[in-house]
Amino acid sequence: MNSFVYRNGILYAEGVPLPQIAADHGTPCYVYSRTALLSRFAAFRQALTGRDALICYAVKANSNLAVLNQFARVGAGFDIVSGGELARVLAAGGDPAKIVFSGVGKTAEEMRQALAAGVFCFNIESAAELERLNGLAGECDKKAPIAIRVNPDVDPKTHPYISTGLRSNKFGVAYSEALDLYRRARELPHVDIAGIACHIGSQLLDPAPAAEAAGKILALADQLAAAGIPLRHLDFGGGIGIRYRDETPPAVADYLAPILAQLAGRKEKILFEPGRALVGNAGILLTRIEYLKHGEEKNFAIVDAAMNDLMRPALYEAWHDILPVQQRAATEVEYEVVGPVCESGDFLGHGRRLAVETGDLLAVLSAGAYGMVMSSNYNTRPRAAEIIVDGAQAFLVRRRESAEQLFALETVID
Ligand SMILES: *Cc1c(COP(=O)(O)O)cnc(C)c1O
Repeated sequence: MNSFVYRNGILYAEGVPLPQIAADHGTPCYVYSRTALLSRFAAFRQALTGRDALICYAVKANSNLAVLNQFARVGAGFDIVSGGELARVLAAGGDPAKIVFSGVGKTAEEMRQALAAGVFCFNIESAAELERLNGLAGECDKKAPIAIRVNPDVDPKTHPYISTGLRSNKFGVAYSEALDLYRRARELPHVDIAGIACHIGSQLLDPAPAAEAAGKILALADQLAAAGIPLRHLDFGGGIGIRYRDETPPAVADYLAPILAQLAGRKEKILFEPGRALVGNAGILLTRIEYLKHGEEKNFAIVDAAMNDLMRPALYEAWHDILPVQQRAATEVEYEVVGPVCESGDFLGHGRRLAVETGDLLAVLSAGAYGMVMSSNYNTRPRAAEIIVDGAQAFLVRRRESAEQLFALETVID
């Protein structure tokens, strides 16, 4: 299902023409489809029907309160990686009893916050973190529910920056050390061993590495049970990829099937932590062409969105399809689609064939995940507005920042 389609030569978000959104809210702005968000969540739920399962949306992919609230309303859990994300989830109406807290560098303050909120589980990534959590839980006379994030040492065959399950990564505890760490956890009075977790990387298109990782996790769970350490849940992480260009990601059900097939006869609750797969294709970045510049070697379409708004192209040379909002009959010209930021790496797309005029709108697709959340104020550029479309209605869910807000926390000295 695609929520961004042309009608009479104009690109729409669900029932709303994108030029209408640009006129009402200005550009650049992110536009998300509520239908797309919810239908992706429904696909996960459907694939897990009849199982004791919790789908914990990975908040870091897109943490807008309205997005979180949509997921909270359909019963999602959340995977968070900071105290800030915890505060967002709670503000958005998320249930703390469905939150898993991941991340290698949880501070004492963040742990206290999560203990007070009563999160479902802390996903522990090191021995030192386990000891710290035990100490802090003791101070407030609690038992912290934990899972150890184990590194299954599986190559997910994705971009090195987003691969996390190899021995060489900073994430998780080595497979060979996990059993000892669980034994240590059992001795600690203020931790409650709840489960085991893994997450091998992002933008995964092949189900095989995830299935292999799941197999290793299950084998470890069995070893733990034999050692008198039974687990209540198994968390297989996120990472399911989406189509940006010509990838052919499996359907959610097909991706999960080889994992679920290994669970016959098991009683543990199962968790998944999808981020990109829920929101990536549910959003676009809407931008306007400020100038067309026809150079000797290259032509440039200089747009009002930049690497500070959508960092993925500059950061990992990621491809995002770029569509003209208004289709024109003119011949296409090859453009470098670039922003106004003073960096040569500031591009959204190289060599894109477009039939456009100055002032036209462009839609940068698949921008719902790791888009707005990675944006910055570089060049003192106010961050973009965010809009959610639902049928024929468009709702502003984050106002555009003002320049004054950007320096409101600063002072000059004598
Ligand atoms: C980033 C992350 C996710 C989500 O990854 P996606 O590729 O967006 O699905 C899930 N779990 C953990 C621990 C993460 O760090």
